[in-house]
Amino acid sequence: MKLYSLTAAAKINLYLEIIGNRPDDFHELVMIMQSVSLADRLTLRALRAPTVQLRCDHPQVPTDESNLVCKAVALLSKEFPEQVNQQGGVEITIEKHIPVGAGLAGGSANAAAALVGLNLLWGLGLTQIELLLLGAKLGSDVPFCILGGTAIATGRGETLDPIQNENLLYAVLAKYESLSVSTPWVYQTYRQQFGDTYVPVTDATTLAERQQRVHSGPMVSAIAAQNSAAMGQHLCNDLEKVVLPAHPQVAQLKETMASSGGLGTLMSGSGPTVFTLTETQAAAEALLEQVRSRIPNPDLKLWVTQFTHTGIRLDG
Ligand code: ATP
Repeated sequence: MKLYSLTAAAKINLYLEIIGNRPDDFHELVMIMQSVSLADRLTLRALRAPTVQLRCDHPQVPTDESNLVCKAVALLSKEFPEQVNQQGGVEITIEKHIPVGAGLAGGSANAAAALVGLNLLWGLGLTQIELLLLGAKLGSDVPFCILGGTAIATGRGETLDPIQNENLLYAVLAKYESLSVSTPWVYQTYRQQFGDTYVPVTDATTLAERQQRVHSGPMVSAIAAQNSAAMGQHLCNDLEKVVLPAHPQVAQLKETMASSGGLGTLMSGSGPTVFTLTETQAAAEALLEQVRSRIPNPDLKLWVTQFTHTGIRLDG
């Protein structure tokens, strides 16, 4: 029986700016996304019987049709019914390492791995562009999770421009295990609090205004110039304005991390994970130990990760 094992990388946001509302009710965003080495492992095994079985032993991850992996299976079955019907079923096992509801796109990474793996298992012959387009139907972060590396993400996050980045920095990630933040809640609250500053995203006349609002240029230049110090200085995430006041514990964590060294500190995505960039593994490990000693709370989980070029890696 055919078996594929894939590694699905988490992402952090080096930059996240909210530009305005879109006609489809999503936010118009400008983000710079970066894959990191913290990853889930998915194993896909062909079954003779035409059933889909999902296994995951993480208590916060559903194993019913609400799991993004099941949604990926359903999407491929709907789009390619003849090819999929000729195959048997599939057993998918998720070995979860990426914390859930963390702003690290764990669910999206799993959906990305499922699309890539099922394409191979079922011999669908889809190109990367076709996989990216299918991924966008499952979630805004799924295309980036397939592509991996470093990229500017615009639109609702699904339109990607890769950035060449050979500067594989380290990122110390920190998250209180018992605290998860709902992504829809963060965006809704941001709209309630800051919606009057949005640029309307309706027609060409507002395009120039929207472009003037984008401030990601210095970060893109810093990455292109491999200027680690400038990357640290230009970290930016608009969603901090909602999450940090609502969760003082996260604000405190950010302050502690920022004052423990490193190039710069930021909350990732909709949080509540906070990260600090460093240039070396030794500096990352020292920073992790310092944060652990300054916040001796067993609920605080810390990881040393490194930037990676790959979103989904086929292991066998
Ligand atoms: P993002 O950064 O894309 O907003 P996140 O890291 O904040 O995502 P996820 O870990 O992807 O959040 O999980 C959000 C919710 O999605 C969870 O509460 C969980 O119920 C649901 N979910 C569905 N499928 C998965 C999956 N494969 N892994 C984790 N969570 C999943």
